[in-house]
Amino acid sequence: MRTNWFWSTDADGRISYVSEWVGNEFAAAGEPVTGKELAAVFKIESGAIESASPLGFLLAKQKAFRAVNMRCTHDPQARIWTISGTPQVDGAGNFLGFHGVGADITAVQESAEAISRLASHDALTGLRNRRGVSALVEQALLGSARSEQSFAILLIDLDRFKQVNDTLGHPAGDQLLVQVAARLGRVLNHADCAGRIGGDEFQIVLDEQTDRTSLAALADEVIRTISQPYFVNGSRCVIGASVGVVVGPHDGETTEDLARNADLALYAAKGAGRGCHRFFSHDMLEAAEDRRLLEQDLLDALDRGELEVNYQPLVNAKTNLVAGFEALLRWNHPHRGRISPALFIPIAEETSLIARLGEWILRQACMDAAAWPGELRVAVNVSPIQFANPNLPQIVLNALAHSGLRPDRLELEITESVFIEGGAEAEATFATLKKIGVRLALDDFGTGYSSLGYLKSAPFDKIKIDQSFVRAVADPSSRNNAIITAIVALASALGMETTAEGVESLDQLEALRKLDVGLIQGYLYSLPVSAEVVARTVGDGSWEIQPIGPAKQRGNRVATFRRIGAVHGDHYYPVILRNLSATGALIEGLVDVPVGTRFVIDFGDRQWVIGTVRRSEGTHQGVEFDELLVSDEQGSFRPRYRVSALMLAQIGLAVDRSVEPGWERPVVPNARPGLPMFQTSLR
Ligand code: C2E
Ligand code: CA
Ligand code: CA
Repeated sequence: MRTNWFWSTDADGRISYVSEWVGNEFAAAGEPVTGKELAAVFKIESGAIESASPLGFLLAKQKAFRAVNMRCTHDPQARIWTISGTPQVDGAGNFLGFHGVGADITAVQESAEAISRLASHDALTGLRNRRGVSALVEQALLGSARSEQSFAILLIDLDRFKQVNDTLGHPAGDQLLVQVAARLGRVLNHADCAGRIGGDEFQIVLDEQTDRTSLAALADEVIRTISQPYFVNGSRCVIGASVGVVVGPHDGETTEDLARNADLALYAAKGAGRGCHRFFSHDMLEAAEDRRLLEQDLLDALDRGELEVNYQPLVNAKTNLVAGFEALLRWNHPHRGRISPALFIPIAEETSLIARLGEWILRQACMDAAAWPGELRVAVNVSPIQFANPNLPQIVLNALAHSGLRPDRLELEITESVFIEGGAEAEATFATLKKIGVRLALDDFGTGYSSLGYLKSAPFDKIKIDQSFVRAVADPSSRNNAIITAIVALASALGMETTAEGVESLDQLEALRKLDVGLIQGYLYSLPVSAEVVARTVGDGSWEIQPIGPAKQRGNRVATFRRIGAVHGDHYYPVILRNLSATGALIEGLVDVPVGTRFVIDFGDRQWVIGTVRRSEGTHQGVEFDELLVSDEQGSFRPRYRVSALMLAQIGLAVDRSVEPGWERPVVPNARPGLPMFQTSLR
């Protein structure tokens, strides 16, 4: 095959000669080129060096050009030619036209494109790969540096993909990924802004429509689209997606920062229950740093004896008699005071620490329970990660043998995610545990998929109905009543017990008794208490507790674990906000505060509210606010206004900005250190 040819033009740029074979080819296609303007017949390929100007300009300069890629508009094969030209002048310096050569480089060009496509695209889905997406991010960063334009990155992680992969096999998993990619393509204006950057992680880079409203709408659309059912190899399957969003350059000026922050936003979306999106915020960075520090401390906590097991009674709804206890892990941190397991268990789960912790608490709980009289049971939480450890049955056996506790007095609390993530292995572990004779409880029922299917296939001894269901049970307009009725009916048909969790008010108790729920756990009967208190109080095993608490549950409560401040008299006390509603808060950290005490509660950032202690137990105080908080956008509450300096002066407080930069803390003028009114349990 011939590839090279010669050409020339006259002074007006008209083709005066082309090698015969090319001339014939063009003529055969019905388009003889001789006599036509070169610039009308050839177009510069975009991507070539001088692509900014059409060929006409290049020729008009009457200067030599080299290796410019062009296509002939009449070429039926649409080949790419690389063309060079040299101006011809006569002895007097008059321009006569161009001479030049052309060569067919289609094959070279295509393989170069294919190679660069291979390097930047994912062979499975045809979307960009990690490298291809990085190139987009770098382009976006350059663009924003040049024109201050913002851009956005959506990091998408599939939820429950692993389960499909494990149950239907890898080829099915691959097919599913291809379908996900196709759906992403449909949601986006152009699919080339999307990529698959790892197993089941996708990323979208956008350089337009980067206002938060459109981004939020797009993220939700992505989640909605991905969450529609799929058919793979004749099986129907459903997965979900979580999305983290960063907006550059505001959220990061380097690819590394952007990637890390997108990860943090995604992590927050997963933490919020998956199937949702979260925008990156700088708090997340602080929280991540905090997590890192806690993780380090947690490594030593066990050896330093900072961990302790507390026990919360489970009480028979009809008789008020204690039937058993749930073991709840407590961490007394040397500087930060008590840290909630809701905060540090996930950290332990991310590291391999959960195995050690889990084994320790099992042994401890079995030892404590073995000393209790009668039939009192102990329930221990087992995280899905512990459950996935094939050694779990052996660890349970060892704890039982070491303590001498009868197996049926030990109950393991597991969540349904064990089945979602664990597959066939989870079922095998389950069967082994049943053989050992321990009891199994399904924890947090009502928070996940709440599929009654698990109940039928897995031989649970108990269902624990989550607090979110219990909360509205006394509200006649809520559907929770009907749901709980159904759960209790099913449980009793399957021979299972029921426990309602997080019961806080008398009206809830009344409603749950009517619905025939067997056991009650919640602050209404007792907070979790130390092993010593249990040992001291159980007596001969018939421990009756009278429910004490508010007649009605007020407002929506959000469980939190945030360090805030409480101001009283001359003192600023660090406290931990345990839960928050529009009308009040539960704070922890001050010892034995009398009912009626007034505090300024400082949420940080000049957001304060005044409140009165209405309930006080040990280190926990229930504070009622003088004015209602409003809901913030993150599902929690905040004071309606930020406090102005004037208002501060009126309540006799000033702002101290010296404590920590960016953190304004109310201080009492002439505050005297020492002699605080209350003892604090936090350090
Ligand atoms: P969970 O298993 O759902 O435990 C019940 C949680 O509800 C406990 O929180 C308990 O203190 C709290 N609670 C009890 N009654 C009430 C009430 O009336 N109102 C409200 N608002 N809350 C109530 P805690 O102790 O902070 O533990 C949080 C979670 O941490 C537990 O949730 C459990 O998932 C995990 N956890 C605790 N200890 C362990 C452990 O030893 N191992 C594992 N793997 N997880 C643990
Ligand atoms: Ca539990
Ligand atoms: Ca629970």
